Amino acid sequence: MGDQATWLGKYPILDATHADDLEMRAAINEHHHHMPRHEAEEKAHKDYRRDQILDAAAHHYAGMIASHAVGKRDEATKHGVQYALALKQIGHGDIVNPPEEVLERVKTTPSDKIGNFKGHDADAYTQPPETDKEKEQKLKKSETATIAVEHAAGHKLGMRVLKGGSMCGNCSYANDDGKSCSNDLFQKFNGGSELPAPADEYCCDEWHPKVIG
Ligand code: SF4
Repeated sequence: MGDQATWLGKYPILDATHADDLEMRAAINEHHHHMPRHEAEEKAHKDYRRDQILDAAAHHYAGMIASHAVGKRDEATKHGVQYALALKQIGHGDIVNPPEEVLERVKTTPSDKIGNFKGHDADAYTQPPETDKEKEQKLKKSETATIAVEHAAGHKLGMRVLKGGSMCGNCSYANDDGKSCSNDLFQKFNGGSELPAPADEYCCDEWHPKVIG
């Protein structure tokens, strides 16, 4: 994916439509809090990023609880990993007791199919640095064996999805052309690297959030 949305050409944002929100935040910082413009912009982006991560934490916390409640342990674990990463980003180390600001957001987190794992756009802000990622890749190899078994049993690795949420468009395996995928397992499943549908309408089991700054 080479089309990461940015605000002012330098601040990564999750959706181009969020730019207006950033402008509003920067204007408040500049005019009401009397900050120099560059500081007003930096703080606006920092606060925006934190807000998005709080939403991701609430999404994964609710997903973890719901998945656990219906006995979907693997889904609960996936949500749990992303929940912990989000908390780490906001400096909250106690994963057993979520901060109040996360619990508040859980109340308004959509519950539709929340027992199934679904990534959050802001996961892109919370992924571990390269060294941890290497460990994660090892874990992924063992997960690949499981997926291969499911695959042999007729499970479809990839499918068309509704726009929004997890999709090739926000997956770290998508190539810069936005039309093909670098993931080996997907290529085997698909018979090639070319995505069978537009990047915002397709996803597969190998989805992994794209990291942005
Ligand atoms: S790994 Fe799956 S979700 Fe990611 S780009 Fe490839 S096909 Fe899309």
